Amino acid sequence: MKVSLSYAQFNIQGVTDNYLVAYDDEDGWFCNCPDRQYRKRECKHIKACKKSLGHVQVDEVVPETQTQLVV
Ligand SMILES: [Zn+2]
Repeated sequence: MKVSLSYAQFNIQGVTDNYLVAYDDEDGWFCNCPDRQYRKRECKHIKACKKSLGHVQVDEVVPETQTQLVV
């Protein structure tokens, strides 16, 4: 069985600011913190969200899988 995520949104409550983290299967991860916006790296918010998802595989954008016909 394969479980994939198509869209998710997280609200991160930081010490001074709140951040919005989102994932969708077309654009990948999004976070509105400066770390992500300007440095283009995986920020701690995204890491925290990935961790909260556990083993659900969301790292790569997987193209539509071909339907296999079993005869
Ligand atoms: Zn962030």
